[in-house]
Amino acid sequence: EAKRNGRNRYEHFTLAMDDVARSRRVIENDLREAISGRQLRLYYQPITDGEAVQSIIGYEALMRWHHPVKGLIMPNDFIPIAEESGLIHMLGAYALYEACREATTWEGKQSVSVNLSPLQFKNSSLVSVVEAALRDSGLDPSRLEVEITESVLLDDSLGNIRTLESLKKLGVQIALDDFGTGYSSLSYLRSFPFDKIKIDKSFINDMGDSREALAIIRAITGMSRSLDIQITAEGVESSEQFAKLREEGCTLFQGYYFGRPQPSELRLKALDNPA
Ligand code: C2E
Ligand code: MG
Ligand code: MG
Ligand code: MG
Repeated sequence: EAKRNGRNRYEHFTLAMDDVARSRRVIENDLREAISGRQLRLYYQPITDGEAVQSIIGYEALMRWHHPVKGLIMPNDFIPIAEESGLIHMLGAYALYEACREATTWEGKQSVSVNLSPLQFKNSSLVSVVEAALRDSGLDPSRLEVEITESVLLDDSLGNIRTLESLKKLGVQIALDDFGTGYSSLSYLRSFPFDKIKIDKSFINDMGDSREALAIIRAITGMSRSLDIQITAEGVESSEQFAKLREEGCTLFQGYYFGRPQPSELRLKALDNPA
């Protein structure tokens, strides 16, 4: 009896695994069509300067997939699949071209931040893709910012740092995203002169009731002051958080309190109607 139950459980498990594998394959195939079918769109979330009143200095481009049957799919549900299947290179190039193109239509000439997957660094053409996106769109390179995560500095760091230096030479800004998660070694900050550090939203979310979260925010802002790096707080959802973070020395802010990600043409509407 026990043996049979055990086998059943095993069979259920492998069947479930098959399901997962199958649905991944389906998503992967759909994703191939998504790019040519114009189902992928970039939404833009404002990044504001805490010192000036209502001043939006830039927007982060965040990808959305409007699936013809499944509806809206969020990046956490398809970026990992794009990474495993190699489609991330096509998807990443699309994001760079599209973000640069749309940013040229913004009257305020704000910057646009594009997330780069660590896997895009494995492709030797990354720098020329960025260069081509800038050239084709005519966007001033200083208005483009790329966001990378620590893992880029972790493996093959020498090659990746060279790539970052080449991007920097093009005039592009470089931000370190989700800081405080992962390994977060302070020595990363010596390996490359980042323009910005973005404190991961989990710390902002927790800082109200966690002394540890607040202490980490303090350590990051303290350090950034001496290194002269701008700090962006992500995931700011309330005026209390905004006030506190400003007091702690954060200079740039992003979060639902200031605006949700919106299609390019709706960005200004979002402003009339904060949070
Ligand atoms: P991220 O780069 O850290 O982007 C910030 C995420 O926090 C976004 O989630 C944004 O919608 C969300 N967010 C912003 N403000 C708030 C807030 O006040 N509260 C809460 N709870 N969340 C907030 P999203 O759009 O779902 O994207 C998730 C992640 O997917 C991004 O994290 C980024 O790592 C990745 N991603 C998005 N677009 C792209 C892309 O074009 N390429 C690549 N490689 N990755 C992307
Ligand atoms: Mg980001
Ligand atoms: Mg982030
Ligand atoms: Mg994140």
